[in-house]
Amino acid sequence: MRVLITGAAGFLGSHLSDRFIAEGHEVIGMDNLITGNMDNIAHLMGHERFSFFEQDVSNYIYVAGPLDAVLHFASPASPNDYLEHPIPTLKVGSLGTHNTLGLAKAKGARYLLASTSEVYGDPQINPQPETYWGHVNPIGPRGVYDEAKRFAEAMTLAYQRYHGLETRIVRIFNTYGPRMRLHDGRVVPNFIYQALTNQPITVYGDGSRTRSFQYYSDLIEGIYRLLHSDEKLPVNIGNPVEMTILEFAEAVKEISRSESEIVFIHPKDDRITDDPKVRRPDINKARQVLGWEPKINLAEGLTETIAYFRGRV
Ligand code: UDP
Repeated sequence: MRVLITGAAGFLGSHLSDRFIAEGHEVIGMDNLITGNMDNIAHLMGHERFSFFEQDVSNYIYVAGPLDAVLHFASPASPNDYLEHPIPTLKVGSLGTHNTLGLAKAKGARYLLASTSEVYGDPQINPQPETYWGHVNPIGPRGVYDEAKRFAEAMTLAYQRYHGLETRIVRIFNTYGPRMRLHDGRVVPNFIYQALTNQPITVYGDGSRTRSFQYYSDLIEGIYRLLHSDEKLPVNIGNPVEMTILEFAEAVKEISRSESEIVFIHPKDDRITDDPKVRRPDINKARQVLGWEPKINLAEGLTETIAYFRGRV
């Protein structure tokens, strides 16, 4: 296959590029590098089946030659990043999705959209199945990401229904691992950085919010299977082991053998406005239609991730 991956220099886009290259495919990567980092794909530069274009896919995209698949992974994805880049976030989810769908249609390529558990907003049911419509504040600070992704899903389904395009949608739950940015503001790199530098580990609020953390390699496997499957409606890919943020802080502290103290802080800014109180994927659909479930537990994944960050603090 010859595939286009947008956001190829990002955390997930780069791991996805590695997977497609390892499977023998040709990868064309694009990224405008606002949150992506060339270090993530430095090892692929010069590979005969990899090429890279620094481009903002919210503008018209030109790709020479045939394409078999388009995977749209470009977007700021950490709350800090989308609070800092609200308009590019809205544009890449809307205009970028439209452009990449148009390209897939022109090339007769299969399309896969990277969507998110944020489409469920601050959920009123837990765990979240794909049939849940969500509880999103469209005008809150997170609305720039959540609504862009909801629009992207609607646009993708419209291309499927109206143009007959082969489309797939993955709803990605909290994912972590090597190549996350140390200072992207998310809880995993924040806590690891704080633990490794013996600074206080900053739990926002009382630590009772929950998340369910998936190691990146499980996600990449789920995405690869989804692209090749017949499932045309969204599929959750995440790890259903849910924990409180306080429990997560304790796990990071223990696995990194850190002396850091865990502190509770109450940021008075948009970082916690509309912050979902709970989040856990219902993965029954992924189990049934993809025969997929996560394989890496938190201790294994955190050990690898901490080792990666240790070399970078
Ligand atoms: N969080 C925290 N301390 C931090 C960073 C994040 O307690 O230093 C909390 C945050 O309020 C949220 C959870 O950790 O409840 C996960 O936040 P993250 O930014 O990783 O992503 P989200 O799941 O909200 O998209």
